[in-house]
Amino acid sequence: YFQVTCAPFYDARRRPMGAVAVFDDITAWRRLDQYKSEFVSTVAHEIVSPLSAVLGQLQNLNKGLLGPLEEPQKELLGRARERLESIAKLSRDLLDLSKIEAGGMGQVSRVQLAPLFQEAVDQLMGRAQAKSQSLELEIDDNLPEVMGVGEELLRVATNLVSNAVKYTPQGGRIRVRAAGGDGEAVLSVQDNGLGIPPEEQEAIFQRFHRVKNADTRQIPGTGLGLAIVKRVVESHDGRLELTSEPGKGSTFTLYLPAAPQ
Ligand code: ADP
Repeated sequence: YFQVTCAPFYDARRRPMGAVAVFDDITAWRRLDQYKSEFVSTVAHEIVSPLSAVLGQLQNLNKGLLGPLEEPQKELLGRARERLESIAKLSRDLLDLSKIEAGGMGQVSRVQLAPLFQEAVDQLMGRAQAKSQSLELEIDDNLPEVMGVGEELLRVATNLVSNAVKYTPQGGRIRVRAAGGDGEAVLSVQDNGLGIPPEEQEAIFQRFHRVKNADTRQIPGTGLGLAIVKRVVESHDGRLELTSEPGKGSTFTLYLPAAPQ
């Protein structure tokens, strides 16, 4: 593997004279990165399976399989489940991120975005309703197909919609829109929730970065969701825009190139 860096140079009158190209052999670095991804995904995989088994057993206990439970016992079981669920979520997110970094979660094909966004909204409707939020989906007829990995794009949609639900208080409004633009699909998730301070708007796309303030501290998360979104959008040659104001809400907009006719 080579990394190529190019820079032009000019004469005294700023006329281009040529260019310098530097070729760096980054094979060893790439290999190390691959080992790291494999290591993370093996560890995460080894954690996910036993954890699912333990969660299942806790659920059986909770259902009273070994006899009726008193309230304090139920509460303790509930707390244990919550903790385990968050470790399971972290492992799944790490696993997905390392799969995406190692070359993708599946094959590239023509993808219809409408059913995919419908599925993301369906998955999160229960959580939005539990917070009395309105979660609306608008799909324009001119929405084009894109070339990509369906599973990864679904992950992007669920991450963005789930964040909007999570970081918007009771009674808020979330609008998910998908439409066609100039040779591209334009997908946006808008909420009127907590918003993101300007100085955090770049950092939240780095892995494990979470905004720490009084409002967000109570909300559980891994800080990996937007890192996954960013990776997937990059690997699909798309771009991502964020407009957000603390106290007013956030809009995440994705642009993905339309598949050739
Ligand atoms: P997680 O939600 O698991 O913490 P993410 O990577 O999805 O991780 O998000 C990173 C951080 O960005 C979150 O912790 C939160 O502080 C902020 N954030 C993401 N989406 C929103 C949103 N819709 N509104 C307000 N803050 C958000």
